[in-house]
Amino acid sequence: MKTLKDKIVAEGKVLSDTVLKVDSFLNHQIDPQLMKEIGEEFASRFQNAGVTKIITIESSGIAPATMAGLLLNVPVVFARKRKSLTLSENLYTAKVHSFTKKETNEISISGDFIQQDDVVLIIDDFLANGQAVLGLLDMIEQAEANLAGVGIVIEKGFQTGGQLIRDRGIQVESLAIIDSLQNGQVEFAEENSN
Ligand code: 5GP
Repeated sequence: MKTLKDKIVAEGKVLSDTVLKVDSFLNHQIDPQLMKEIGEEFASRFQNAGVTKIITIESSGIAPATMAGLLLNVPVVFARKRKSLTLSENLYTAKVHSFTKKETNEISISGDFIQQDDVVLIIDDFLANGQAVLGLLDMIEQAEANLAGVGIVIEKGFQTGGQLIRDRGIQVESLAIIDSLQNGQVEFAEENSN
């Protein structure tokens, strides 16, 4: 997705060989126009998948997931990273180790918002080692719901998550795939040159 890649080049900050900071449009400040285009792109890539629900993780997945939900006309549920007092029964939970924060969170979704007949699209901001997506997949399995696929805003193709998820036969659509962050430079994978 060219507008996204241009934005990454213009405003992304390479913090190390493995971490990209995109605080100016995705992870802190949000660019609504870009989010709208991202939502349209996800909607078009999954328009024939019969999606009935989108699931993401708070907080940075919420903006792109909501835009995709608007376009696909389906509700969006975000997994919580902390247990809420009002969210105590009928929970699906999974443990997720955060690549950037180096901590493990127990994420949870209320059973009220994911049903056996749902066709779920997972959306997240980044795909690194796949832990966040695996946690969401685990909860979808607990609910015995169906999976449409996985939509990722930025995949770091040099980490293991993409292959791990695709090897399970799951459709993963990443709007920008980064091949390398070495020497402070963002290099995109060629096949994602659309
Ligand atoms: P994974 O679970 O695939 O290892 O990591 C994905 C999660 O870690 C994303 O939800 C995102 O919050 C965070 N993350 C991983 N790599 C990066 C990165 O390079 N930059 C930013 N901003 N977040 C990242």
